[in-house]
Amino acid sequence: MDEQSLLAFDTQHIWHPYSSVSSDMPLYAVERADGVMITLKDGRRLIDGMSSWWAALHGYNHPRLNAAAQNQLAKMSHIMFGGFTHEPAVELAQLLVQILPNGLDKIFFADSGSVAVEVAMKMAIQYQHAKGEAQRQKFATIRSGYHGDTWNAMSVCDPTTGMHHLFHHSLPVQYFLPQPNIPFNESWNDYAIEPLADLLERKGNEIAALILEPVVQGAGGMYFYSPTYLVKAQALCKQYGVLLIFDEIATGFGRTGKLFAAEHAGISPDIMCIGKALTGGYLTLSATITSTEIAQIICSGEAKCFMHGPTFMANPLACAIAAESIRLLLESTWQQNIQRIEHSLKQQLSPLSEKDYVKEVRVLGAIGVVEMKSVVNMKTLVPRFVEQGVWIRPFGKLVYVMPPFVIKDDELQKLTKGMILALTQEYLHHNERL
Ligand SMILES: *Cc1c(COP(=O)(O)O)cnc(C)c1O
Repeated sequence: MDEQSLLAFDTQHIWHPYSSVSSDMPLYAVERADGVMITLKDGRRLIDGMSSWWAALHGYNHPRLNAAAQNQLAKMSHIMFGGFTHEPAVELAQLLVQILPNGLDKIFFADSGSVAVEVAMKMAIQYQHAKGEAQRQKFATIRSGYHGDTWNAMSVCDPTTGMHHLFHHSLPVQYFLPQPNIPFNESWNDYAIEPLADLLERKGNEIAALILEPVVQGAGGMYFYSPTYLVKAQALCKQYGVLLIFDEIATGFGRTGKLFAAEHAGISPDIMCIGKALTGGYLTLSATITSTEIAQIICSGEAKCFMHGPTFMANPLACAIAAESIRLLLESTWQQNIQRIEHSLKQQLSPLSEKDYVKEVRVLGAIGVVEMKSVVNMKTLVPRFVEQGVWIRPFGKLVYVMPPFVIKDDELQKLTKGMILALTQEYLHHNERL
């Protein structure tokens, strides 16, 4: 199909993430992707700054991941998980149990990040019910979070950016705490935990669980906060019988400099969700993990089982690729690699912090964020990035990169240079407009 008819049909018939059917937003046809290079149908090549939303940590078209997929494909692509098990699921679970924070060893495989969050929330409700605490029906969370697009996941997303007023009468109402206002590298002060202490004192026995993204808030604000918040939150949750759920769907598998962001705080949550980079960006797969103790309590309740079971649970193809992706990661010098990327991002993006249209530049692990003073114009800015040969997709006031870990120094330099040049052009007449 030629590029023009491809784009024309798409525009007529296909939705894109958070898009309008009458959108005039730029749309590009991709022909293929290899390593950190995305090749467009018109032949242009872009350096990938997004890892396809946190997922493609080893880059695209990786020979080892391809081989894992092909080997599994020759045996079976899928088989139901009710009454059956298979090597890909067991091997993946073995790897996960080795690397997950201590005590997390009961694994529920699901299809996507949002579903993993639904599963975690259902686990919390069933746990509380089994403990004779059926009145605990609500969830607490922090503002500017993002946990997915399905119903209950959406109920714990930031109420403003998640447009909760649109769904006002049908969405469960949860408790929202202020965003932890002590940034990642700043010294702790107990005032930051007071809102949670206060909420739990007043409403603690209505709350089944506290759910949050540990250390790094992703799509809700690309913000990095003090790990001490998590330590304090865990102590309070224990005191009030509230479960602690970590959504590590974005932060898992090394992105923040630790294998899991929970390690920055040195704690294990009661329930944890992983997804995105789990399959190295090849297929959709997620998991919700809890401890043996909590799993046993869930299954001692009225239902005698956990009430969830997706059709494509533990899909063998996805599991085989995920296991190989984890092996690849553990065999690599990923920690040094992330440090190298972090160092370069800090150095190369810091000049932007002096621009009058930039509010703040922040870097943690392989995540570089430029927060602008106002919402960017996607329609003009994205084509400028493409002209510079880089793939960066901002949202709201946030222009950020989180490249595949395999990106080389010269490619990273091209990426940040392209980012800076595009922003400079976009805001060339910024002062005149003020
Ligand atoms: C992306 C994301 C989700 C949702 O995952 P999907 O696979 O898109 O459903 C949930 N939580 C966090 C933190 C995420 O970044």
